[in-house]
Amino acid sequence: MKRVFNFSPGPAALPKEVIQQAADEMTNWRDSGLSVMEMSHRGKEFTEILETTKNDLRALLAVPDNYKILLMQGGAIAENAIVPMNLVGKKSQPATIDFVNTGHWSAKTIHEAHKYAKVNVAASSEDKNFTYVPARDTWKLTPDAAYVHICTNETIGGVEFDYTPDVGNVPLVADMSSNILSREIDISKYAVVYAGAQKNIGPAGLTIVIAREDMLGHALPICPSAFDWKEVADHDSMFNTPPTYPIYIAGLVFANLRRLGGVAAMEKINIEKSTLMYNYLDSTDFYKNSVSIANRSRMNVPFVLHDASLDAKFLAEAAQNDLVQLKGHSSVGGMRASIYNAMPLEGVQKLVAFMKDFEKKYG
Ligand SMILES: *Cc1c(COP(=O)(O)O)cnc(C)c1O
Repeated sequence: MKRVFNFSPGPAALPKEVIQQAADEMTNWRDSGLSVMEMSHRGKEFTEILETTKNDLRALLAVPDNYKILLMQGGAIAENAIVPMNLVGKKSQPATIDFVNTGHWSAKTIHEAHKYAKVNVAASSEDKNFTYVPARDTWKLTPDAAYVHICTNETIGGVEFDYTPDVGNVPLVADMSSNILSREIDISKYAVVYAGAQKNIGPAGLTIVIAREDMLGHALPICPSAFDWKEVADHDSMFNTPPTYPIYIAGLVFANLRRLGGVAAMEKINIEKSTLMYNYLDSTDFYKNSVSIANRSRMNVPFVLHDASLDAKFLAEAAQNDLVQLKGHSSVGGMRASIYNAMPLEGVQKLVAFMKDFEKKYG
């Protein structure tokens, strides 16, 4: 079998052992005679898969008892509408939402929110081309905001929060699509955390929402019932048919993570992998990463070559070395190495060795 190291930003690499287990079980899950894809979501087999998956996630993130874990559809982009539809109803209308704009994904979230509320951009790093996270003491928050929204890791810009902001009694909501389960977090500091699955969890199609119980039950009348967190929670994520196969794969990923030592063990490896990348990038003028050191993402490492006319060669020669999907997002150009949990240290070592060779050849 061809072995490559896959640096895709998403849908991203899954642990090899998970893909193998899924392949082994695909036609006959644990002697049920059924593929998970063919199971009734209300049957006892799938109910067991769903419960185990949720319990493992709860254990991995130490989710407190007063939080619901919802397994939904629509991705993080749908949550850009679903979050305000569920939360602005707590306030008299029109409510205000505070946002911190750290790049592409927070900008998208802000854009969508205009349909549902007044928008206040409390802080932005646009002045330096979204290369840092604004310090908490610079934020201009609205005292009675419905909530404060942040994106803890900007997948395209490669900018990651290095702290959890204190916003007092206002609920803190975070899009953690691209760094959930990569580092230890204190869920109790957030009112709502959400993430599309396809970066660090499983296949596209599953969206995880972790919501404190007092965030449920305030949906606007226009909110579709299938996206009303209270409805979803009351039906144990089965108000509508959930994305059963992605849930099953996510469950395999969670079980695998627990075997490997959980989030703390992952964080250690992620620090090692990202340090290797950034130390090398800083040691040469051939490549460059422009993100402020404290906010460099451990998950997504964007970089440019000093001479952009070498980009195509870089990608072609990387692929010949089995290092694939390194092309940067079209909005920023250059390269991006996404090194989520499923990327082994060996893959990053191989990438850095390749980059050194490439520099020698063309530098
Ligand atoms: C990938 C990503 C999204 C978009 O997710 P969809 O599944 O396409 O809705 C949103 N936010 C962040 C931080 C992402 O990384």
